This record gives sequence, C-alpha cells and structure tokens, in this order.
Amino acid sequence: MATSEGWDMPTGDLMKGKKGLIMGVANSSSIAWGIASQLAAQGAELAFTYLGEGLERRVRPLAESVGAKLLIQADVTDDASMDAAFAELEKEFGTIDFVVHSVAFANKDELKGSFVDNTTRDSFLLAMNISAFSFVDVAKRSARLMPNGGSMITLTYLGSERVIPNYNTMGVAKAALEAATRYIARDLGPKNIRVNAISAGAMRTLSLAGISGGRGLHSKSAQFSLIKEETSMEGVAGAALWLCSDLGRSTTGEVVHVDAGFHAVGLPDDMEG
Ligand code: NAD
Repeated sequence: MATSEGWDMPTGDLMKGKKGLIMGVANSSSIAWGIASQLAAQGAELAFTYLGEGLERRVRPLAESVGAKLLIQADVTDDASMDAAFAELEKEFGTIDFVVHSVAFANKDELKGSFVDNTTRDSFLLAMNISAFSFVDVAKRSARLMPNGGSMITLTYLGSERVIPNYNTMGVAKAALEAATRYIARDLGPKNIRVNAISAGAMRTLSLAGISGGRGLHSKSAQFSLIKEETSMEGVAGAALWLCSDLGRSTTGEVVHVDAGFHAVGLPDDMEG
C-alpha cells in the first residue's frame, strides 16, 4: 500500500484481531501516524488520542482514513482527561492488545544552549511529567485493559545516552523514560505484557522543529550514520509492527535503536582539521 510519505507499506494480517491505542498524532509527519498507518495496514483496529481541540481537525481525517471510529481528547498532564479517555476506550473496545505512547514535550527555551544554565525547576518537571511519567501512567491504565497480555511501546532518542547539543532537558527525560520502560516491563512481564522503547533517529516532525538547530541535527545524523541516510518512517513503523505483533513475543524491557546506525558511531569518518 503506497502512502502519502511514498513508502511501500507491507500489508497483511499480522495485527488482525488486535485492537490498540495510538497516542501522539499531531499531523501526518508524526511518528505515531507512521506507526498507526503500518499497524492498520496489517489489520489492527485503532483508537487515537489527540491533545486539544486545535489538533482535532488534523487528526480526525487521518484517523478516519484508517477506519478508526474512536478519537478521544487526552492531555497526559490532566488526570480527569486521562480518566475520561480510558473510560471511553474501555467502553468501546473492552480490552486492548497494544498501546503506542509517542508523546513528549519540553519548553523551547530549554532546548538550546547551556543545559546547566537554562534549566529551571518548573520546565524540568514539566518535561519529566509529559515525556517520562506519562508512560508510567499510560502503562498502568492500559495494563488494566490487557487481561490477555499485550504490548506497549514508547519513543525515545539517543540524547538519553549521549550528549546531543541543545537536547538538554529532553535527554534527561528520555533517560528516565528508558529506565521506566525496564521497570514497567518487570512489573507487567508476569501478565504477559511486553514493554519496549524505540530509539528513533532524528526525523522531521513538529518535535524536532522545537529543538534549536534541529535541521542540522537531522542532516548531520544522516551524514554520520552507518547507512549514510536519514532515519525512515518505514523503518520506525516496521520496528513498531515487530514489537506490537506476535513477532516480538520474546522481546521486552528493550530499547531498540532505529537510526541508520547513528548510535554506534564514536567519531565521524571525516576527522580532518
Ligand atoms: P510530534 O510533535 O508529531 O509528536 C509529539 C506528540 O506529543 C504530539 O502529538 C503532541 O500533541 C503530543 N503531546 C505533547 N504534550 C502532550 C500532552 N500534555 N498530552 C498529550 N499529548 C501531548 O513529534 P514526533 O517527533 O512524532 O514525536 C513523537 C515521539 O517521538 C516523542 O516522544 C519524541 O520525543 C520521539 N522522538 C522523536 C524523534 C524526532 O527526531 N522527531 C526522534 C526520536 C524520538
């Protein structure tokens, strides 16, 4: 199935009979949308959450294009909104088989310059709340709807492990997110719920635009990667399909890098100067 992004999406039945929740579509460039499209192309039944009425007009046509009937407003910082969203999900779907958490936020002022000078308590806590704690909360709520086991994935970035210019607070939040992934995986493993993170390379989305020098980060990542290309939506969505389907049955507590090999590079080839 050809998509608007131009990749040839493999269709099939890998997700047939599986229902799940997609959190984090803001527009057609969102990683969550690439993943949702691929899961739908393999037969998954999807529900979507979106943040705020402003985004509904963008997300609704996308959700409808993959036959989703359930589109719910949810702000991960607001317990009442999360209670209402999961109540509606339970009412419509009963149980679910997977959840995709593709949500993050940090104030733009913190995504530039000196981490030590620019980081304030309030902005640090906001980034941690939306980008790390929210996965713990979503996991707790989703696990209740997974009596037969299931799969949870979140999205992270290499800035958790390595110093990436300007990534700052978000790098610290991603480190917490990855640690949370392992702890959640321990707790939910006995319930046959697998919990993993995909560490995607830099991709052109709204989130990347919020990071100072995001364009350079994107182009340099491709230039210095092992495969010498930018991270593809196809690759990230393919990893999500593997982890959300039964193909991923023995994998949990893992951070899977899907970044054209950028994470493995110590120094770039070009060391002149
Ligand atoms: P995006 O801006 O399309 O998605 C981020 C989503 O987070 C948006 O849909 C936004 O509405 C949602 N969000 C923010 N605050 C929220 C809140 N309070 N409640 C509910 N939702 C909220 O950008 P993206 O690049 O697709 O980001 C998705 C995930 O992928 C993020 O976790 C991001 O850190 C991660 N990631 C992105 C890249 C990249 O280069 N774009 C690389 C690795 C990881």
